[in-house]
Amino acid sequence: MENSKALRTWLDDMKLDHPLVIAGPCSAETETQVLDIAHQLKNTDVNYYRAGIWKPRTRPGSFEGVGAIGLKWLQRVKEETGLKTATEVANRAHVELALEYDVDLLWIGARSTVSPFIVQEIADALKGTDKIVLVKNPVNPDLALWIGAMERLHTADIKNLGVIHRGFSTYKKTKYRNLPEWQIAIDFQTKFPDVPIINDPSHIAGRRDLIFDVSQNALDLNFDGLMIETHCDPDNAWSDAAQQVTPDRLLEIFKDLRVRKTGDNETEFHNALGQLRAQIDVLDGTVLDTLGERMKVAEEIGILKKEKNVAVLQSNRWNEILGKMILEGEQRGLSEEFVLKLFKSIHTESIRHQEQVINS
Ligand code: PEP
Ligand code: MN
Repeated sequence: MENSKALRTWLDDMKLDHPLVIAGPCSAETETQVLDIAHQLKNTDVNYYRAGIWKPRTRPGSFEGVGAIGLKWLQRVKEETGLKTATEVANRAHVELALEYDVDLLWIGARSTVSPFIVQEIADALKGTDKIVLVKNPVNPDLALWIGAMERLHTADIKNLGVIHRGFSTYKKTKYRNLPEWQIAIDFQTKFPDVPIINDPSHIAGRRDLIFDVSQNALDLNFDGLMIETHCDPDNAWSDAAQQVTPDRLLEIFKDLRVRKTGDNETEFHNALGQLRAQIDVLDGTVLDTLGERMKVAEEIGILKKEKNVAVLQSNRWNEILGKMILEGEQRGLSEEFVLKLFKSIHTESIRHQEQVINS
């Protein structure tokens, strides 16, 4: 992994004039469905055709993939459309079959990345391969686990490596199916700037109307590519129906995305600036999320105070918070004046929320 420069060559060798695109259905369902979508994606910006053959489902009893027969369908895709193929592998048997059927790109799913045993088994089965192998982030927000999986593959002499950022699961109800936690992807990029990183907006969003925004965000953060689930009849897909888009919609998305180009010093400067601004946007979003959550807790305090008939303003408690925050701010390089202003305004908003609850 230290010599990560060598890892990038597979993407450089492709000499693309746009980000790498992996598209196709969440699951291979029937031969007709697989070929129908593939033909619609032929001669577009799509580089790799994805289809899940073995599906890791959260609950038993849902569709668990068509199995090895789907590999024959992917072979037909390659013969008929010239698209390269991609699928998820989750154990040694999957790897052996995928290699036998000459799948071009294999990825390790988010539920597999969490298990060092499984990753090691896959690494051993793939030893020395020149296929492209991409590692999805683990379902839990753990950078070390993600890097650890990459190290196991690197040690097994797999040269054409990359990662897929597909978000992190959360118990909280949010607009996303999996929280992007962009900072983790940024940390990965900073540590391994030469490892290609692909964004999977489909599994982050969980719903098709968010795919464009998540994709744009990823491109603003200099991701190298996108993996977007695409289906000819998304609403009737056998898995992940809500998040798949039609081939027509996919092409529209590509048309509207702003892609940063690399080139002369001037473009390099704008790229660097754009990436830093995108990081600021991510952080600002986190600040707002945190403030929103803080106000919800303040409202709960309001409910308690109402029950006990206690005054909203408790000046002792407030002075205590201020003193502590000034010290903590100092440790983070924030001036006393700024921290005071910030917390005064947070306090005012907090009181407004509590009063709203008490007067309701
Ligand atoms: C998939 O790509 O269809 C999939 C199951 O993804 P993940 O491992 O990210 O959940
Ligand atoms: Mn899926």
